[in-house]
Amino acid sequence: MEARALLPVTAATLESAIDALNDAVDRVSGLAFETLAPAVERVWIDEIASVRRDLLVWVQQLATAGEQWLPKYFELGFGPVPGERDARSLHDEVTLEGGFRLRGAIDLVEEHRTTGELRVTDHKTGRRPDRLDRTIVGGGTVLQPVLYAMAVEAGLQRKVTSGRLFYCTSVGGFHEHPIPLNDMTREAGLDVLRVIDRSLSEGFLAAAPAPAACERCDFQAVCGPDVGRRVARKPQDPLADLTEMRRRP
Ligand code: SF4
Repeated sequence: MEARALLPVTAATLESAIDALNDAVDRVSGLAFETLAPAVERVWIDEIASVRRDLLVWVQQLATAGEQWLPKYFELGFGPVPGERDARSLHDEVTLEGGFRLRGAIDLVEEHRTTGELRVTDHKTGRRPDRLDRTIVGGGTVLQPVLYAMAVEAGLQRKVTSGRLFYCTSVGGFHEHPIPLNDMTREAGLDVLRVIDRSLSEGFLAAAPAPAACERCDFQAVCGPDVGRRVARKPQDPLADLTEMRRRP
């Protein structure tokens, strides 16, 4: 779409976008079918149909956003990160205030069509958390919106208005959660990095999962079923930083 000068997706270009989307789903699912050789073809067909339905809703939402926002960078990398990246990716990692060096890749960076300011999007395919409304760093578990926005600001030297989580599937309810980038949210992001940094410099990296975190974690077979009980027996003072961070929205 970008190469054919058909961005942003708007009502006027929606039909071309839907054609491009269907072609992409056919191409990618065809390749994946060859590679994975699914055992039950009916299940495969239903799942691909479900992915296609979600993407069609997503592209219609793009057409609404496209009146204001122009998609500018796709999978924009900063620092050496594996995978297919935007050709304009930054080779070097970015350094934030306090000397924190970040590397990563951002799903989407858009430019406001009148102000020229940027916003950063992190696409989520899972379920939306129940309590998301006030989330900035989510107790240290939601770092992309703020830190990626800061990385773009530092790396591209452009004004960034916000980072957002976009739960872009029916499972996530096509819900958008924008977080403005301002002094308060920047400080919240840096604070999380400071807590991690202190733990590293003190060499204190004990397993201390949040309540119920183990239930959703693939490493339970490695850690065992009673991490919570073991953590409760440890001196709690060194965990105070972490406990405090987990209370932050
Ligand atoms: S299972 Fe292990 S790695 Fe996973 S959350 Fe629990 S303590 Fe952490």
